[in-house]
Amino acid sequence: KKLGIALVGLGGYSTYQLAPALQDTEHCYLAGVVTGTPEKEKIWVNKYNIPKENIYNYDNFDSIKDNKAIDIVYVVLPNSMHADFSIRAARAGKHVICEKPMAMNVEECDAIIDACKKAGVKLGMGYRLHSEPYTQEVKRFVREKTFGNIRYISADAGYYSGSSPGQWRLNRKLSGGGALVNMGVYAIQSLIYGTGENPISVSAQEFSTRPAYFKETDETITAQFQFDSGAFGTIMTSHNVNANRLHAKCERGWFELDPASTYIPLAGRTSNGGLNFKQESQQKLQMDDFAMHILFDAPNLAPGEMGKRDMMIVEAIYKSISEDGKKQALNFEPAYGFS
Ligand code: NAD
Repeated sequence: KKLGIALVGLGGYSTYQLAPALQDTEHCYLAGVVTGTPEKEKIWVNKYNIPKENIYNYDNFDSIKDNKAIDIVYVVLPNSMHADFSIRAARAGKHVICEKPMAMNVEECDAIIDACKKAGVKLGMGYRLHSEPYTQEVKRFVREKTFGNIRYISADAGYYSGSSPGQWRLNRKLSGGGALVNMGVYAIQSLIYGTGENPISVSAQEFSTRPAYFKETDETITAQFQFDSGAFGTIMTSHNVNANRLHAKCERGWFELDPASTYIPLAGRTSNGGLNFKQESQQKLQMDDFAMHILFDAPNLAPGEMGKRDMMIVEAIYKSISEDGKKQALNFEPAYGFS
């Protein structure tokens, strides 16, 4: 059986990544869409042959509970709408994939997790890299200590945003934050799977070179992390700098991905030589992995707790910035948020 996915929000990511990927998935397919823009309905019906009864808008969305063709609702809306639609999807009895960042704050993450637990549905984050081979190789280096213990890790994630001041990503009410919530979550993730540990503390600083453009949201943030093993790390995230990299210094060598979190192709090297993996759509792999979690009880590679953990780190970073870089303790159970 192939599970039916309904995409909620037909913006850039649904249009150019998720819908095309769903043409190649083995365990799920594009069964429906939920859109607030009536003109898009016809386009999607024609392009993907979606039955009219599987098209919803934001108002009649809750009636999706009666539609047996939809097994999974994938929330691909501006961040401020993630919690509302994820919770409504769970209440409709549908499994949920929620895009990153999980929500506007930790409280909303809890509400999503609770709603999915209560409804007995599965919850996964749109963290596509956990299904991606270069990232899995990094996790293997860490697990098998290929280069010994990790001593220092750094990760950058950013891009230059320069010509679209009206976009929702720069509107705090819709985004919940700037570069940190949009791209910084990738750098935070890199640090965690690149060390195999949750951090125990963070201090952070914010920089702005174009305050007239970034009126409400952070432009650039750096943050320093400590880990229980003694490893330490730094991240840089920005809406002003094109950067996309993970680099780890270990006891006996190093490993690096650059780029580390773009769609395709990732690339990597180690002190032993280059890495070379088959390139496939990360979104295809991610959605198939989640479908296999539902169908065959395969591991949930990016559970809701992982999204919540990252939001807890985001909140600690903003708190540190508001306290002029003061170190914030982070108290996670060792395995919290890992799959
Ligand atoms: P987008 O701006 O291209 O699309 C947003 C969609 O939301 C549009 O269809 C728009 O019509 C709809 N929308 C509803 N209410 C809106 C409002 N008040 N303001 C603006 N748009 C509104 O955004 P996107 O790039 O598709 O991002 C959507 C989500 O997916 C975000 O949470 C983003 O972080 C996430 N995303 C994840 C990845 C990834 O690699 N995992 C990549 C891109 C985006």
